[in-house]
Amino acid sequence: MKGLASISGLLGISFVILAAAMISGSALSKPDWMKASISKLEKELTEKYGTGQRARLIKGMDQVAGFWREEDGGAEVLEVFVRNNFAGDEKALDNLFNRWEFMLESIYGHMSEIRMALGRQADLDIGTLYQFDRVTASYSPSAHVADDFFKNKLAFTVLLNFPLTTLEERLTEGKNWTRRQWADARLAQWFVRRVPSEVNLEVARASAASDQYIADYNIWMHHLVDDAGNRLFPPKMRLLSHWNLRDQIKADYGNSEGGLERQRMIQKVMERIVDQTIPEIVVNNPHVDWNPYTNEVWPAKVNDSDTEPPADIKVAADREPDTRYKIWFDTFEASTLVDEYSPTAPTLIARRFNEGREIPEEQVEAMLVQVCSSPLVKEIAAMAKKNLGRDLEPFDIWYNGFRSTGKYSEPELDKITREKYPTARDFEKDIERMLVALDFPKDRAKYLSGKIVVEPARGSGHAAGAGMCSAPARLRTRIGAEGMDYKGFNIAAHELGHNVEQVLSLCDVDYYVLQGVPNTAFTEAFAYVFQGNDLMLLGLEKDSGGRAESMSIVNEFWMTAEIGAVSLIDMKAWHWMYENPDATPEEFRKAVIEISKEVWNAYFSDIFGKKDVTILAVYSHMVHSFLYLPDYAIGHMIAFQVKEQMREAGNIGVEFERMAVAGRIAPDLWMKNATGKPVSADALMEATERALKELD
Ligand SMILES: [Zn+2]
Repeated sequence: MKGLASISGLLGISFVILAAAMISGSALSKPDWMKASISKLEKELTEKYGTGQRARLIKGMDQVAGFWREEDGGAEVLEVFVRNNFAGDEKALDNLFNRWEFMLESIYGHMSEIRMALGRQADLDIGTLYQFDRVTASYSPSAHVADDFFKNKLAFTVLLNFPLTTLEERLTEGKNWTRRQWADARLAQWFVRRVPSEVNLEVARASAASDQYIADYNIWMHHLVDDAGNRLFPPKMRLLSHWNLRDQIKADYGNSEGGLERQRMIQKVMERIVDQTIPEIVVNNPHVDWNPYTNEVWPAKVNDSDTEPPADIKVAADREPDTRYKIWFDTFEASTLVDEYSPTAPTLIARRFNEGREIPEEQVEAMLVQVCSSPLVKEIAAMAKKNLGRDLEPFDIWYNGFRSTGKYSEPELDKITREKYPTARDFEKDIERMLVALDFPKDRAKYLSGKIVVEPARGSGHAAGAGMCSAPARLRTRIGAEGMDYKGFNIAAHELGHNVEQVLSLCDVDYYVLQGVPNTAFTEAFAYVFQGNDLMLLGLEKDSGGRAESMSIVNEFWMTAEIGAVSLIDMKAWHWMYENPDATPEEFRKAVIEISKEVWNAYFSDIFGKKDVTILAVYSHMVHSFLYLPDYAIGHMIAFQVKEQMREAGNIGVEFERMAVAGRIAPDLWMKNATGKPVSADALMEATERALKELD
């Protein structure tokens, strides 16, 4: 029970809720026959292998028992299994470990190649996409592997012989572990949960419903009418909440004619989405007009859509009936179904922080608060106010005018990249030279470029790493008819950073089960390093004055403070749900409104001169992303740590490789190896202070 108490303390969740979830779970309800078999085996196998193996044996059998279900067999099956599969000496254990390394790379490597092949038509710009191509692309041949491994008991060979660990153990004891001990821990984590497929299905259902809800949440902007009857936005403009609404606020900074009125109106729309006073009928509907200030609606007086208004249109101003909060709460309820099958992380919050990110929630929260409450926010806000020539308003949290023109104009850069890269193949052939330009040693540049294939993407592009070292990493990039424009090149540079990390952290890490990086924020950090040095990749001089770079640091800090506050709201909301599992959508709405005001008032109300602002809760991720938001904020901070280290060392290539081959150990350990310090906001803060001084 000690473990439970510390987990609940960490999460600030009442102990009672967790305890209830645990006791009803399979982990603690061992039947009597099982207890008898285990004590019999303990005696028998300790005699056989010696008392030195006893602790391992007890832990292993306990792990097996935790996941064993009735369908797996009775006493005899369990006893035979343990007798046959306990690796009682070092040689047997090493052999088991090595076979698993080989097997996992073979299975997941080939599965990944099958997925690549099935997704090829959908992913690449290589001809018509038919409906059956989409179905092919969505088929996942590996979906049942984990289930199969429990059914044929291979998973139990791991659980019997390798230790499951808690995040606390990995963080405190992990510093003294050998690489092999880390690999043992990661191998066991492969089977940290045995979730019944019907539970996975429920989660998938809630996830799909929330995706659908968000995907259809459009506002038809030409139908927003102000008090004087003006339509501030052009016909046919349809903005998806929240991304397009937020980006329109950003775009309107460049619009001196009426931009401010538009920004204020979007802010009002956001407020109504958050507090659900938005009339339900205006969502995704071009056939009604709406004054978001008075909240009146009427049949549209203009039609800018491709569909005719329904003949019997009845316009009612009834508000959206807390659907936003119902859908979000449904994702919580589905997540709680997994809790009892996840003994080492029995809440979604624990799974996100302790297993996904592997940074304790307290540490993440402290990093977010450090940025949001920093005096730098005030200093940068003063810059924004000066630039804008007016007092700040709440929507200015999305101010994006921290910019300075670089040495080259965009058309100049377009010309260069189009000439250099008329096809994907031309980009591929240039990778070796690009890597040398970033100070990778020549032989390493040759090696890495030989493992990266460039293909024409249907979408904006992505980097697909391989699952086995013999397969290539794939860079998918969009190339227009006239060749690659600068925007495309900038994105391709980002993806190339991913690819180089993918190759190094798969092929040059000592154990397959340690392949990769600690979490997604780390691979983004590597990608940002390439993207931020895209001019160097082109063989051009970096911006001379450094002003552009200082501005971009200030901009990144401002964005981190914004997304940091948004993340704090998301985290507090999930805690509220775990504390109020029987709440109604209405109660949850009220709670989220209170939480968002609380966060705003804590960090921004003085700076913006307004209290009780709720617009930060407009982020769609909250509704459909299961507590993903903090990753963005941490990502900025981790990227700065990595970038600053490379800046100080003065050698991107060598540092990049040294960092990437550490593999998937705990984030703090990884970062200490990379920079000498644990994961923190310090590098971002220091870089911002330096940038502000330089701009002064
Ligand atoms: Zn990326």
